[in-house]
Amino acid sequence: MHFNHGVFGLLWRTATQRPQAPAVALGERVVARYGDLLERALDVSAGLARLGCRPGDRVVIFMKNQPEWLALMFGCWARGLVVVPVNVKLHARELAFILDDCQARALFHDPGHQDALDALGLVPRTPGIAVGGADYQRLLGAPPMAPEPVAPDALAWLFYTSGTTGRPKGAMLSHANLLAMACAYANDVEPEGMGRAILHAAPMSHGSGLYILPHVLHGSLHICPESRGFEVDEIDRLMAVHRGVSMFAAPTMVTRLTLSAVTDLPGLQTLVYGGGPMYVADCVQAMDRFGERLAQIYGQGETPMTISSLTRSQHERGHPRLQARLASCGYAQTGVQIRILDDRGEALPVGETGEIVVRAPTVMLGYWNLPDATRKTLRDGWLYTGDVGAFDADGLLTLKDRSKDVIISGGTNIYPREVEEVLLRHPAVREVCVLGMPDADWGESVVAVYSCRDGEAATAQELDQLCIEHIARFKRPKRYLQAAELPKNAAGKILKAQLREQLAASGQAD
Ligand code: ATP
Repeated sequence: MHFNHGVFGLLWRTATQRPQAPAVALGERVVARYGDLLERALDVSAGLARLGCRPGDRVVIFMKNQPEWLALMFGCWARGLVVVPVNVKLHARELAFILDDCQARALFHDPGHQDALDALGLVPRTPGIAVGGADYQRLLGAPPMAPEPVAPDALAWLFYTSGTTGRPKGAMLSHANLLAMACAYANDVEPEGMGRAILHAAPMSHGSGLYILPHVLHGSLHICPESRGFEVDEIDRLMAVHRGVSMFAAPTMVTRLTLSAVTDLPGLQTLVYGGGPMYVADCVQAMDRFGERLAQIYGQGETPMTISSLTRSQHERGHPRLQARLASCGYAQTGVQIRILDDRGEALPVGETGEIVVRAPTVMLGYWNLPDATRKTLRDGWLYTGDVGAFDADGLLTLKDRSKDVIISGGTNIYPREVEEVLLRHPAVREVCVLGMPDADWGESVVAVYSCRDGEAATAQELDQLCIEHIARFKRPKRYLQAAELPKNAAGKILKAQLREQLAASGQAD
């Protein structure tokens, strides 16, 4: 590996060894081989240098999934630039926050965004390069340049957390972090054998977009859907044409696939899910449809997609521990140390629940320009994840909830996820969020907000009965509130803080 070229070395290595291997497809059609991809990335790199970008500058990519993503990413890295991925579903004002926060030098965006960007006067600071989407022809034609050597701890990826716990924070990932993540993937996510191709149906701007890296290292074909996003029928069509395909999908996407009329996706090799809780019932349903082709990952922007995992073979049907495995987020990944700590920072034994802290080569350098938040989150080389969980004797890590979401009612901890799992057993419930609201007597009381599938209904009595059957009485919600839909962020995660504010403002939860 050309380590002094950092992450760019992954492409360099594959492209120089296997230049004819298919690299990128748009739908069914291969549009670039590895040799072409390398050439394009070097063109982009030279073009960015000509336009004034210097090593260390931040370049925002605000584009839907498309073949150009790969050349742009690797083009930035060849120049020592920092890639800042931004989900296109964010509002232009949210993009404005990020552009300003990271002092972006360049912005790549889809042509469709031009009006919104103009309206807000959004141009990155001098020299103000804004390149409209696929129109990256502007970058071509500069005299070729050799790739820039980079130090392993140089910044490569500035990933803004989605802000479910406050304002977005830029998690700084180095070249060494990303290389460690790329190398661990084959061991921990698909040890049974990696796919020959990866279908990018989830946003490439999301943490899972980093799965581009192990698949470039492996020389896989990167399939970009023509819809540029997650369309069930298109996935079905592509899985009939391509073979040996890995695909990442957030839990809501997996459920959409499961409940749709798709075939059993013959081309699918591994459906990787994670990035948020996937309830056991949904997992079982997905396995009924797609068999033992699922793999789970648990990670966060601060240590991208690499804390623990459950591989395809660990989804084996009939295994005596299958239920426990599905309720967990798997086993620690290679080179990842995990501790469970109590409130005083003391390590807890197996079976006890506390904050998950992690030490690993993938752990971020810190938060961009936020020294206080960095000190709080990174202590003595350990990342405090803000997630609460426990190990069992077999080494399975089970996530109970995020620490700030734990409800303390009458001095006792209640984990919303446990209650949500029970309420989702009701066949009419589509989604549910359990949260703590201020209560004069109890400190906090448990409130459930849920929505139903189209044309179906679930009453508070039915839901309460389910809780009586399955969990301790003190965990039962005091109120069940039905809503048409729950507020979600661009990645489809329920925005608990927003929901809590809405409830407080409406007085509904009193
Ligand atoms: P913010 O950090 O701003 O709140 P976010 O929650 O969207 O944003 P991400 O880094 O996108 O941050 O998500 C990471 C979180 O998602 C983890 O800390 C964990 O709570 C949850 N998560 C990730 N993978 C899993 C999984 N397999 N099972 C359960 N929860 C998961």
